[in-house]
Parts: sequence; C-alpha cells; structure tokens
Amino acid sequence: MTLRSARLALSFLVTFAALVAVTAPASAVRPDSQAVLSPVAFQILNRPAPVRGADNRQHLVYEIQAVNQSNLSIELRKVAPRAQGQRLGAPLTGSKLAARTRLNSGEAGTTLGAGQSAIVFVDAAYSPRRRPPRAISHAISMAWPDAENPSEMVRQTFIGVSSRVSRRHAVVLSSPLRGPGWVAANGCCTLNAHRGATLAIDGTIRVPERFAIDFVQLNNQDRLFDGPLNDLTGYAYYGAPIRAAAPGRVVGIRKNLPEQVPGALPAGATIQMAGGNYVVVNIGHGRYAFYAHLKTGSLRVRKGQRVRTGQVLGLLGNTGNTDGPHLHFHIMDSPSPLQSNGLPFVFRSFRGQGVVRNVAGIQAGEVADVDRAALRGRHLNALPMENQIVRFGR
Ligand SMILES: [Zn+2]
Repeated sequence: MTLRSARLALSFLVTFAALVAVTAPASAVRPDSQAVLSPVAFQILNRPAPVRGADNRQHLVYEIQAVNQSNLSIELRKVAPRAQGQRLGAPLTGSKLAARTRLNSGEAGTTLGAGQSAIVFVDAAYSPRRRPPRAISHAISMAWPDAENPSEMVRQTFIGVSSRVSRRHAVVLSSPLRGPGWVAANGCCTLNAHRGATLAIDGTIRVPERFAIDFVQLNNQDRLFDGPLNDLTGYAYYGAPIRAAAPGRVVGIRKNLPEQVPGALPAGATIQMAGGNYVVVNIGHGRYAFYAHLKTGSLRVRKGQRVRTGQVLGLLGNTGNTDGPHLHFHIMDSPSPLQSNGLPFVFRSFRGQGVVRNVAGIQAGEVADVDRAALRGRHLNALPMENQIVRFGR
C-alpha cells in the first residue's frame, strides 16, 4: 500500500462511518461483506417529500451534497435514485448529470478535484400510480485514475446514500394571484436560481427556495412590459393584489424597502434585504408561506394579524434582490426566510396555458415563444412546472 492509498483508505473509513451514522435508515445498511470504500461522501440535505406536478408525475426533489474526501480527481458518472429495489425516475448520467451538478469550485462537469465538493440537484419523477416510496437509495458510479497506472481508470459502483421519504402530503393552497398569463418562472424542478440558493446560513446549508416560484404576467401582446425595460409603469401586472394562499397568522413582515429599477439586480443587496418587502404567514402544521418583493408601502396586514384565504396582503412590487416586478412565493418549514427548508405545495385548481420557451427573452422585452400544447388544461392539486403559464380563477 502506497502512502497515497493509505491516506485514501483512512478517508474511506471516515466516509463510511459518516454515511452509516447520518443518512442510512437501519434497514438500508448492507452487510460489511458487500460494502465498498467510497472516496466521495454523499449526504442528502433534507428528507424529501413528494409533490404532484402539473405534468401529472410525482416528483421527489432533493439535493445530495458530495464531498471528495480523497486527494484524487474523482469523476462522478451516475447517480440513479432507487426505491423498493427498483429505479425511481431516470438515472442521471452524462450531460444530464452535468446539468444537475454544481461543482463548488465553479468549474463545469462532474469531476471533483482533490478535496472538492459539489451538490447534485435531483428530481426523481415517477408515475402517480406507483406505490409511494418510503425510502430512497442511489446507485452511484464513479471513476478515477489508477494510482499505479494513471492511463487506466478505477471504476466503482455501489448502492447507498439512503434517506427516508416524508409521508406528509404537499399542502393544498389557493392561488396568491388572479387571472391569466402568470408564468411560473424559476419553478420546479431543475437547477435554477431558486434551487441553487443552497445557503450556508450560520454554517448550516439551507434550501429555502427549493419549490419557489417567481410569478410574472404576460400582457395581451404576450410580453411582460410595454416601453422601456427599466420603467416600472410599463409592467401592467406591477401592483397586482397578492392574496393569502391559505389562512393563518402573520408572523413576519418587512415593509419599507424602496422599489428597484428593473433590468438589473441592485448593487450591494444583503441577504437580509433579498426578499424586499415581504409577508410570512404561519399556515399551521409547521408550514409558513412567504410572499416577497412586495411594493413599497403596499402592505395591508400587521404582524400578529390573522388572515383568511384570499385576503389581500399587499401589492406585487419590485423590492429587494430583484431585476423586474414579480411575486416570489414559496412554502418553508420555519418563519425565517433564510433559516428554513423549502417544502412542497400544490394549488387546488388552475388552468395551464402552455409553457414559455424564452424566459430570458421575455425579461428583455421579447414576445413570449410559447409551446401552447404543453401542460394545457385544468390542473387540480398540482404544482405548476417551470415556465408554465397558468390562469388562476375564472
Ligand atoms: Zn424568487
């Protein structure tokens, strides 16, 4: 055994102990005779809870942190979710894996350099007819240069990295907005600005925006605004009433931050200011609704006040860390927009009006390029999918 491999072996032992202690349900621990020593330690950040999407699939949406505990470059080749001894959703390999892997070094690809870390953003989608999984594990494949013969690759595959699955149903909500043409930008379930906000707040990784949606509204020319990009008055939906999606008590509020100029993110925004003017409503059972970027001076509720479904909380604005008017909406597991974990939700009823293909384009003022056939029709108890256009109410 060379010095390098001895060091690797030591990290393997640490890795294995950590996996057993932190992530694996007792029943998922395999006999020692089948266990392998992995150079990378994987950990699922939060116990996943399923949600039904408007694509009529169940989605388990979660993140896996991967830390290369060795001093070798390790190529991650496959992350394949499993449940009940079978595949769950499509395995992530090749370009699909790369698109859902963020190396914390900032490099592209799926190779973790010595000591580097990454997060893999998983969306395991499966038929609603399938028995709900109680636990998940993963088939994981990796490869790295052979220390003795660097032109050869050592390959490793194992099944591990387990978590129980939450039995809680996604909370059913009314819509926080009314009318047609609302685009669910940065919605579920790719790696986008919301999911990528894996914030280490006071040193603990949080994913508060896992299921968050940025709602913007197309006008009757299928544009977001008329006139110059940086003129708030050209956005017809600016000032739209924001309504309580569920009853509860207002537990958090911010109201006096100024409107930003659309077209660019403000300079020097702190994380505390990111949500702009906002309302947090405790909707019960450990869930909190977050309505953000509200218009300056528009809040109609006070902290401690009880609100009923449909009650106007304030008006859609452009405050905080924002580059155009929108409602940022999500459900979280604590009253703190920073120190929370994003929870799934569904809207009781909405109508699908297609999917926008050019979200960056519409933000720049282009006419929406819409796939009119995608996700059309009435949806009940479903989460709008990323860039889906939805009509709320009649
Ligand atoms: Zn947002």
